[in-house]
Formats: sequence, structure tokens, C-alpha cells
Amino acid sequence: LSDRLGDIFDKLTRRGALSEKDVGEALREVRRALIEADVALEVVRSFTDKVRERAVGAEVVKSVTPGQMVIKIVHDVMIETLGAEGKPIDLNAPSPVPIMMVGLQGSGKTTTTSKIALRLTRREKRKVLMASLDTRRPAAQEQLKVLGEQYGIDTLPIVAGETPPQIAKRAMTAGRLSGYDVVILDTAGRTHIDEPLMMEMAEIRDVAQPHETLLVADALTGQDAVNLAKSFDERVGITGICLTRMDGDGRGGAALSMRAVTGKPIKLIGTGEKADALEEFHPSRIADRILGMGDIVSLVEKASEAIDAEKAAKMAKKLQKGAFDLEDLADQLGHMQKIGGMSGMLGLMPGIGKIKKQLDAANLDDTIVKRQMAIINSMTVKEKRAPKLLNASRKRRIAAGSGTEVQDVNKLLKMHRQMADMMKKMGKGKGLLGGMMGGK
Ligand code: GDP
Ligand code: MG
Repeated sequence: LSDRLGDIFDKLTRRGALSEKDVGEALREVRRALIEADVALEVVRSFTDKVRERAVGAEVVKSVTPGQMVIKIVHDVMIETLGAEGKPIDLNAPSPVPIMMVGLQGSGKTTTTSKIALRLTRREKRKVLMASLDTRRPAAQEQLKVLGEQYGIDTLPIVAGETPPQIAKRAMTAGRLSGYDVVILDTAGRTHIDEPLMMEMAEIRDVAQPHETLLVADALTGQDAVNLAKSFDERVGITGICLTRMDGDGRGGAALSMRAVTGKPIKLIGTGEKADALEEFHPSRIADRILGMGDIVSLVEKASEAIDAEKAAKMAKKLQKGAFDLEDLADQLGHMQKIGGMSGMLGLMPGIGKIKKQLDAANLDDTIVKRQMAIINSMTVKEKRAPKLLNASRKRRIAAGSGTEVQDVNKLLKMHRQMADMMKKMGKGKGLLGGMMGGK
């Protein structure tokens, strides 16, 4: 597959600029890569649409090939879709914190339960109680008990004849009475999603009121991933996803599918049968694996560096000419988001106190930055380059497109004008530019 992608990108290299046709051709290969990685079809579609939207018309900077440009956009969109770096399990609730594990039979719930218990015990020094609510598979409760004994983690004593909700209730009571910090409820699965399973999970949820509900899924889950994640999220409500068997050959497309349809974070990755085979989620690693290109990282890094350098040079020229348009503003806002917090970054820049004060006054936090990005993204390329075009009806269209109000659009335009003015004045100095473009 890498070869195929390589071929198509080579072709792009020889061709020069990125046209709709070029992007379309590259995306056919990307689509094939995603399908081979078991990404669900509807997610493949929405993903490639997003890439196309961003890639067509994107300016190709001189120092990278059009192919590299497309790869970088594919990679960027993939990481955005997969979400932020490892979100830890949230224990910020009154003790004992209930954690409920859900998923299909054989997905790795029991194994992951003991892995998480061990991690919370060793790393976070929490007192953990594990309880098996699996009354359906013979010896399932014993399986958890054996794992507990092996790793020195307490399990709820087994009482014959109880229903899963009854066990959940007893586990929470025991957790409270014996001073446990965390109670992990390991539920029973089915071979497929059905109504009785969802009813049972909902009942357990109502009894235990879990603070975290983690969907455990095999990395090899293919087209079912969407239905699986949607069903559990709609019927039970999940707070995160644990992807198991990433030590196998699977490319882990399920991660993209499940994240895309639920928006819930992927919290942990299982990489083996042993209790320590549990890893944090790193979106870029999974992205590379889904794309099936081992060397994509260095390629992307090289492209990014070149793009940053070239953009910086262009920006410098523009500023001196006093031509800071809305595309540049979007670039800057994106840059700021990446390095975390506008005020923080502005604080690092010499000679920018005045702008910073204005921005602070405008209460420019990250949600506002996101909104501003949405506004700019709803503009056409022409509008971004010539904000003067923005008459009342265009503003209304942009507000509707970005889910904002016309007054938000006006505020953004005002801010842009002020920044452009300020930059024109300061453009000849070094401080602003150096800070803006170099600040990573
Ligand atoms: P459950 O039915 O959801 O409780 O699944 P289990 O926890 O009993 O796991 C089923 C099988 O998958 C067991 O043989 C586990 O050892 C294995 N397993 C679970 N997680 C992983 C993993 O991350 N990697 C590998 N290779 N095997 C795993
Ligand atoms: Mg089990």
C-alpha cells in the first residue's frame, strides 16, 4: 500500500499545482488505505470530504511537493479527528468512583478491567475493587477473581444467584463500607449488540451511576465499529473508548470510526494479554498506522517545517506592505491554538503589550478563537483576501455558516483591522514578527 500511495504522490510531484483532479486522485488512494485499515465506510466518506475541502485550492508552498502537501493535510485532518493526546481516566468524583466497562463478548473487558485496576493501584496508589457482573458466561466471575489474585487486587466475593444489577449494588456498597477509592464493574457482553444487552447495561448504569463508562473494543472491529459505538453511546452513554489488541496486525481503523461517530475520547490502548500491556493513546501513532505508512511522520515533519519557514517569509513581506488579510489572521489563530492559549503566547512577545491588552479586553479565550476560526472558515478565499467584499448579505451567510451572529463577524473584522493597523506600524520592527512566527 505504501508503494501505491508513493506512486500516486510521485505523480503529483511531477505535475505541479494541486487541482481538484489531483486531490481527487490522491484521495482515491487514501480512501483505499482507510478501507484496508477497516475504517467504516461512512467515516471514510466524511473524512475524505473534509480533506478535499481543505486540500483543493490550498496553496502549495515552493519547498514541498504537492504530494507532500496532500499527505500533510490528510495527516492533520486525521489527528484532528482522532482527538487530543491521552485523556486519563477521570477519578474526580466522590469515592468510591464507579467505572463501568462495556463491550461485546471477547473484546477484552475483563483483561482491561484488571489492567486498569493494576495501573490505578500502582501508579496512582488507589485502592481498587473489581467486580464481575458477568453471570452469563460460566466461570467469568472466577476469571476476574484469578486475575485479582495474580495482581494483588481485591475482587468482590462471588455470590451465586444474583442478577448483574444486584451485584453492582453490592459492589458499590462494599466499596463504600470498606473505603475503596475506585470500583470497576466488569460487565457481560454478547457476541453482537441486542436489546437484552442494552437493557442490562442501562439497568447496571442506573444502579451504579458510573463516573466513567468505558467501551472496550477490539482493534480489528471493522464496519461494525460505528454501530457498536453508536449503540452503546446512545443507550448507555459512554465517556471513553479502550481499544484492545493493538499488538495484532490490525491497523486500528476502528479508532477513527468510533471517535468520529461518538466524539468520545480514546483513552487507552491494549497491546497484549499481560496486565502491563496498556498504553496511553497517541493520535499521531494511530494515524500513521491507519494510513499504513511507517515513514509518514518524518515526511510530514519535513513538510511542516518547510511550510512554516516559507509562510514566515511571506508573512514578513506582507506585513511590511501592510497587507495582513483574513487568511493570515486564520493562520495566526491556528498557530496560537497549537501552542496553547493566545494570552500566553502574546505574553512571550516583546513589544506587543498594547495588542495583548486589547485582546484580553475582548476576552479572547480559546472558545472565542475557535469561533473566530469558524467564521473565517465560512468565508470564500476571495473574501478572506479582500475583507472589503464583506457586505451585509455576505456577513449574514457567513454568520449562518459558522453558527454565529453577524455581530460576531463584525467583531472579528474589527479585530482584524486593528491588528492589521498595528502590524503595519510595527512590521518594520523585529519583535512582533519574530514572536509571531517563531513562537512554538
Ligand atoms: P471479555 O469477554 O470482553 O471480558 O474479554 P477478555 O478480557 O476475557 O479477553 C478475551 C481474550 O482476549 C483473552 O484471551 C485476552 O487475553 C485477550 N486480550 C484482551 N486484551 C488483549 C490485548 O490487548 N491484546 C491481546 N493480544 N489479547 C488481548
Ligand atoms: Mg469478561
